[in-house]
Amino acid sequence: MVVSVHYRGTLTDDGEEFDSSFGKDPLTFLFGRKQMIPGFEEEILGAEKGDKRTFDLGPERAYGNHDPEGIQKVPKDQFPEDIEVGMVLAAEMQNGQHVPLKVVEIDDEQVTIDFNHMLAGKNLTFEVEILDVREASEGETSHGHSHGPGGVNPESEDKAKKDCSDDGCC
Ligand code: ZN
Repeated sequence: MVVSVHYRGTLTDDGEEFDSSFGKDPLTFLFGRKQMIPGFEEEILGAEKGDKRTFDLGPERAYGNHDPEGIQKVPKDQFPEDIEVGMVLAAEMQNGQHVPLKVVEIDDEQVTIDFNHMLAGKNLTFEVEILDVREASEGETSHGHSHGPGGVNPESEDKAKKDCSDDGCC
């Protein structure tokens, strides 16, 4: 299934909005491929076009608990000079994925950073509006992602850069 939704995410504890697709492009994803946090898919399972759902997710069904091991000290000379507490930097991992890390403390020699997801350990509330639910195409199922608006769109991308599948989609 390919599902398109509008969603608004707030922190359950204080109501602060951390993300919203309203006023932007809807979120479109291939259901059941772990592209979404687990609770999000569980809560909209069986939903139909036009449905609206509001639900709360504890950390274990969202971004996991805050892991103390994720807090590490790194020599200051590995960072840009204008680094400040509260900044969020992107670290490139060996697999090429970018992981956000937050600067929590700076002293003369070391910078303390937190690799935990910024929403780790938080209770989240989502308001979701189901805009569309459709069967996934064969190509989408084999690629593991949605095509077309809101997904990967081979028509709009530079095919010369693609190398991993027959329709030019990656
Ligand atoms: Zn594809």
